[in-house]
Amino acid sequence: MDQLDLPRASWMNEEHDMLERACRSFYEQVCAPHYERFEEQGCFDRDIWSKAGEMGLLGAEVPEEFGGPGGSFAHDAVITYQATRMGIDGWGAPLHNAIVIPYILHYGSEDQKRNWLPKLVSAQYIGAIAMSEPAAGSDLQGVKTTARKDGNQYVINGQKTFITNGQLANFIIVVAKTDPSAGAKGTSLFAVETDQVEGFRRGRNLDKIGFKSNDTSELFFDDVKVPASALLGPEEGQGFVQLMEQLPQERLLIALQAMGRIERALAETVAYVKERSAFGKKIIEFQNTQFELAEMKTEATVAKVFVDHCVARHLNGSLDPATASMAKYWLTDLQCNLIDRCLQLHGGYGYMNEYPIARMYRDARVERIYGGTNEIMKLLIARTL
Ligand SMILES: Cc1cc2nc3c(=O)[nH]c(=O)nc-3n(C[C@H](O)[C@H](O)[C@H](O)COP(=O)(O)OP(=O)(O)OC[C@H]3O[C@@H](n4cnc5c(N)ncnc54)[C@H](O)[C@@H]3O)c2cc1C
Repeated sequence: MDQLDLPRASWMNEEHDMLERACRSFYEQVCAPHYERFEEQGCFDRDIWSKAGEMGLLGAEVPEEFGGPGGSFAHDAVITYQATRMGIDGWGAPLHNAIVIPYILHYGSEDQKRNWLPKLVSAQYIGAIAMSEPAAGSDLQGVKTTARKDGNQYVINGQKTFITNGQLANFIIVVAKTDPSAGAKGTSLFAVETDQVEGFRRGRNLDKIGFKSNDTSELFFDDVKVPASALLGPEEGQGFVQLMEQLPQERLLIALQAMGRIERALAETVAYVKERSAFGKKIIEFQNTQFELAEMKTEATVAKVFVDHCVARHLNGSLDPATASMAKYWLTDLQCNLIDRCLQLHGGYGYMNEYPIARMYRDARVERIYGGTNEIMKLLIARTL
């Protein structure tokens, strides 16, 4: 694959370079050969998760005392970016690593951390986060799932949908109302260890237009009893604040996924137009192709600088929610635009599933929707004006 020489991230050091090489070889040698099968079966093999755990690719941010390598978001950024860069699009590990685990790191008690983090690092537990419901997506205050206190337990009832890792996950952070009359202030988060409860059921592995190797699913909770110690945070009613605090990292993560895919799309396209001929010339010799690629490389460069700036700010604690929303909305819009133009340069072959650009076209689309739609991102940005 052609190298594009996009600007190197200023926050990357030698350790991150080594991790990058390890990721690339893991994705290329362990995941890529089976990727078509993962798409057909609608999920990755569980075994891949265990191998990733052995390789140190799960729970990079977990401190050593809880079984992790004691890294930072920079490590998760590398693991995430390289996944889409290498075409490993539907693997739910970035969500497990940089969305699920941080809830335990930030809001877990000492006991909860000791109990859960080592299992999340080794892949004994695969994580998911269940916010969305059939009638509550953008408007999370409309969540209907309840968690009623009953002595030493909570009883959870409700339905979730569109949950990434939904078929494989056995550690699910569930957004539920502990006081349905109190709006956002009545929302709490629970960590549900699904192997240890009754009344939990997985619904369909949903039939999507892309992202097919991920087991995005419906989940059902019918009188699921969890111990009071499943609550995240010192008291009920913290869930909404916890979600708002963590969503910027989720949004930055999606921007990084988009950036990885942009780089891959361009590299694939440059290689293709150098190979393919029409009218006695290579496709790259047409001025239209050169102008398109020149524009796209420029846009990719601007995007890379911006996303790396956001990562650097996140690492020093100064990334504000509006800027994270800008990264999410702008990079995911840009990736759909660039991938569409790259597909056009492939001609009819770009529409054939055997060409990587076709799958990128399908996989990229969801990123304008999940993690908060791009319209919601613009609302958040506009509120700062
Ligand atoms: C593949 C996939 C994976 C996902 N993974 C997860 C997951 O792991 N966990 C999870 O909890 N959820 C997950 N989701 C759900 C995702 O976060 C929601 O789909 C998303 O937040 C949008 O919610 P919705 O689908 O209910 O759309 P709606 O909220 O119904 O929105 C419909 C349209 O209305 C627009 N809209 C809504 N409100 C406003 C407003 N105030 N102003 C302007 N426009 C507005 C939206 O932007 C959108 O265009 C996933 C979704 C998909 C497709």
